[in-house]
Amino acid sequence: MAKLTPMMRQYMDIKEKYKDYILFFRLGDFYEMFFDDAKLASRELEIALTGRDCGLGERAPMCGVPFHSADSYIARLVDRGFKVAICEQVEDASKAKGIVKREVVRIITPGTIIDPSMLNEEANNYIMTFFEDEDGIGIAYADITTGELKTTEFIDINRKNQVLDEIMKVSPREIVISDNFEYQDNEIKKLEKICNVIFTTHYNRAFKFKNAEDIIKRHFNIYSVDSFGLQDRKHSIICIGALLDYIYDTQKVPLKHIDKVNIYNHNNFMILDKFTRRNLELTETLRGKEKKGSLLWVIDKTCTSMGTRILKQWIEEPLIDINRINDRLDSVELLLKDMLLRDELRELLRDMYDLERLSSKIVYGTVNARDMIALKSSIKVIPFVKSKLEGKVKGELENIYEEIDELRDIYQLIDEAIEEDPPLSVKEGGIIKSSFNEELNELRRAITDGKKWLMDLENRERQKTGIKSLKIGFNKVFGYYIEVTKSNIKNVPKEYIRKQTLANSERYIMPELKEMEDKILGAEEKIVKLEYNLFGKVRNKVLIEINRIISTAKAIAKLDVLLGFSEVSFIYRFNKPVVNNSKEIKLSNARHPVVERVAGDETFIPNDTILDDDENRFYIITGPNMAGKSTYLRQVALNVLLAQIGCFVPADEAVIGVVDRIFTRVGASDDLFQGQSTFMVEMSELSNILNNATKNSLIILDEIGRGTSTYDGLSIAWAVVEYISNSHILGAKTLFATHYHELTELEGKLKGVKNYCISVKEVGEDIVFLRKIIRGGADQSYGIQVAKLAGIPNKVIDRAKSILKELEEKDINHKHKNKDIVSQFAMAIEKPRDEAVGEQINFFDLSSNEVIDELRKIDIINMTPIDAMNKLYKLVEMV
Ligand code: ADP
Repeated sequence: MAKLTPMMRQYMDIKEKYKDYILFFRLGDFYEMFFDDAKLASRELEIALTGRDCGLGERAPMCGVPFHSADSYIARLVDRGFKVAICEQVEDASKAKGIVKREVVRIITPGTIIDPSMLNEEANNYIMTFFEDEDGIGIAYADITTGELKTTEFIDINRKNQVLDEIMKVSPREIVISDNFEYQDNEIKKLEKICNVIFTTHYNRAFKFKNAEDIIKRHFNIYSVDSFGLQDRKHSIICIGALLDYIYDTQKVPLKHIDKVNIYNHNNFMILDKFTRRNLELTETLRGKEKKGSLLWVIDKTCTSMGTRILKQWIEEPLIDINRINDRLDSVELLLKDMLLRDELRELLRDMYDLERLSSKIVYGTVNARDMIALKSSIKVIPFVKSKLEGKVKGELENIYEEIDELRDIYQLIDEAIEEDPPLSVKEGGIIKSSFNEELNELRRAITDGKKWLMDLENRERQKTGIKSLKIGFNKVFGYYIEVTKSNIKNVPKEYIRKQTLANSERYIMPELKEMEDKILGAEEKIVKLEYNLFGKVRNKVLIEINRIISTAKAIAKLDVLLGFSEVSFIYRFNKPVVNNSKEIKLSNARHPVVERVAGDETFIPNDTILDDDENRFYIITGPNMAGKSTYLRQVALNVLLAQIGCFVPADEAVIGVVDRIFTRVGASDDLFQGQSTFMVEMSELSNILNNATKNSLIILDEIGRGTSTYDGLSIAWAVVEYISNSHILGAKTLFATHYHELTELEGKLKGVKNYCISVKEVGEDIVFLRKIIRGGADQSYGIQVAKLAGIPNKVIDRAKSILKELEEKDINHKHKNKDIVSQFAMAIEKPRDEAVGEQINFFDLSSNEVIDELRKIDIINMTPIDAMNKLYKLVEMV
């Protein structure tokens, strides 16, 4: 240490405190990184690694980025999960004695990004704290750009699962835990992978109840945490306290905009576990993880990014309170009926900037004059919005009307103070109106007067000397000067003092010119400083009112979503559902909102649904692949979900008895990376459903039991139907699509179970999908016809047909008629060998042992139908 240069020693001192961070160390116009940080950053950012003399024998590895383009580099590092500490020079280098003082002024972690260019404007960026003890678990999370702070607690037996669902729903970028929290490293890694979140540790002190409580009281300036309803909420208090502490530590500014705590009960919302959210493709598609193709994509008709963020929250938190749902629905109805009002309001909202994120810039002191003008022009719209709503309020609109503050005082302040078209920088003047401040006005007048004096001087000197081309100019090095071309030098008066010689001219000064220069430049310098100070004052005045702006922004965002809902209903013909506690789900001519958009209005075939608490509780749905089973299942779930977020639904009529949860188990999950087999994933999803569903849940099951042998799978599926449909055990409303035609035997045996199938028509040898759901079980799988549609070569299809025919004729097992080919093979092979040999048909009876051996090797359980076809093709070639 002693050998290090003083600057390096300073670096080491600071780095010592920020070991876990990449330290951006400001040196002049660059942020430099050293040692391991430099190696890592040069690799991640693909910038050159150099070295710097540090007093030791070897040079210190170093790399750097220019400060003016640092944001994009920081964004890249943070995006990859690194944390960055920004260390600035905190005193004027020219005035510093010895080494310039430097301090870390801000820390940027994935959850504490505030730079708009680094944020997705359509989603909140949440940072979360988590605390667990033997009594329960708490979480608190905040979006530090919008000031939103929420908390909830989990005390049920099944809390681990619930917390996981909640974390998935909130989808934070960063979770802060105590540095002595005992966790399993692999659990954290798994979570990091599933949720795309990073875990950060913070000192345990912040997670101590007393400290947390003190921080909350200090932050909100309250006498007791009771005033926020936090009494008896130990876990929430600890989480909020620790969260505020962490945010203070990283942001180092007072967080005025976090002024409320939203304590919510996760049981007040419909619970959607991660599988359901993903399977129903609520905000992104299952495969591409894109918005396009998701429910959000179809129903997002918002005009502002504040609106999109709220919409996303609403989709992920459907309501279960009938009154609140109907409040939203009533408002949507009003806005749908009054087309003019809707169009006018949406037009107004389009003129609004992101008030929430502008507010955060004010809080963090990064606001510039152009942002202020953006704020002003957004506020300008608000009174118009409010007056349009006047007298038309209904349902949720009534609250919104009340919550909108016209913010006239803030408008006026900005209007009086800030120039209309200011420059980006707040340090170069030109941002404050002269009329706003007398001193500024006088200084500007002094400059105007001075410049006029210069023009007069120019005229006077031209006349005096007779040099017509004489002119007064200015440059940064010499200030104001008189310029005379070489050919006129002979006429230059004696009192001119030569200052600079150019190729074609000479430049002179004289005392009175320099006196005026001092006045002008002095005034300009003063103006820049004065404007900067005045701007700071205006910012602080707005800062005091920031919570009014944020509440208004929230209200406008909600209005935006409701307007969007009415617009969707209008353009896609959605209708108002009746939402009640009837325990029924009745849909007539319902559509799948997303498939319908892809298929086109004309081509989508609507379907009905009648689910109730009694005879029609459990649909067993059969039909060939591609018939539309999955689409139908999802369409029912999405109609229910849409109704419960307060949106109209794609159906002619709908009655929705509120459901407490929607569960889905759909298709093969892509959770393989977690190291579980498909079957294991399927079974754990199913177990989650069976353990957590209630009578009031809606369950969607698509092909359970496919990942194991036919008999195992069928037995599991059978038992599941019995369990769910039994109203003494569960009795949840369920739609179950299956290839096990055997399950259709359950209708009539189990109360509430009804068979349905999606109809197809046979045309010659082919099939046509009719897409209509009808009562009864499907009698055929049409596997070969569907394979043909998928483009399997004719040779294989023809061969498959003849095999099927043979199999049918031989009728291996009377009970399992009409099985698709794969299951038939499975059955033949699963039988005890002796029995199987006895029943072998021609195909197996071939003398070639090779074929038999090959057949024995087949792993039917893990085979897809296409694999089976290919195998079959190979076998055919062998004989
Ligand atoms: P399954 O689950 O029975 O294999 P899907 O639900 O995946 O079938 O449907 C297959 C395709 O059929 C869908 O991608 C969609 O394009 C189309 N489809 C499904 N239902 C309908 C419908 N009601 N109207 C029009 N097209 C539909």
